[in-house]
Amino acid sequence: MKIQTDTSSFRAHIHAHCVTSTLQAAEALCEEKKLRLTPVRRRVLEVLLEHHRAMGAYDVLERLRAEGFGSQPPVAYRALDFWVGAGLVHKIQKLNAFVACAHPSSGHDPVFMICRGCDTVAEGTADLTDSAVERAALAAGFRVETTVREVEGLCPSCQKATPQ
Ligand SMILES: [Zn+2]
Ligand SMILES: [Zn+2]
Ligand SMILES: [Zn+2]
Repeated sequence: MKIQTDTSSFRAHIHAHCVTSTLQAAEALCEEKKLRLTPVRRRVLEVLLEHHRAMGAYDVLERLRAEGFGSQPPVAYRALDFWVGAGLVHKIQKLNAFVACAHPSSGHDPVFMICRGCDTVAEGTADLTDSAVERAALAAGFRVETTVREVEGLCPSCQKATPQ
């Protein structure tokens, strides 16, 4: 499995660029597919884009509630579902939480690197055509539909803070 580590989530970077590019991708996608970019949908994406961290649906709901978007859970859940379906938000199964996509312009198979030190989630993309999992599945005659690619460990700055 070739993992592309062009992600900057673990390094100092101009985060405004991440925010702008994902919001622009969202606007373009809604226009192209004739989907409505409602204030709640936009706000949910903005909240997730604040940090490269996964947020639980409940935390997103709390934020919306605090900002006066109403306190009905379905509103937040539906907005999250909408973005997951659109591919601009990913669900991190291990954390049962959501992150905004870091590679919105590409059709991709994300690999999530979850730092257990600072909770940062970096998204890389993987070429799965040559992965060990695919080969094992092929050998078993099994057709893979979904794989969860989440790895947990320490990001570069947390490794420095806790030397082995
Ligand atoms: Zn960023
Ligand atoms: Zn993504
Ligand atoms: Zn870390």
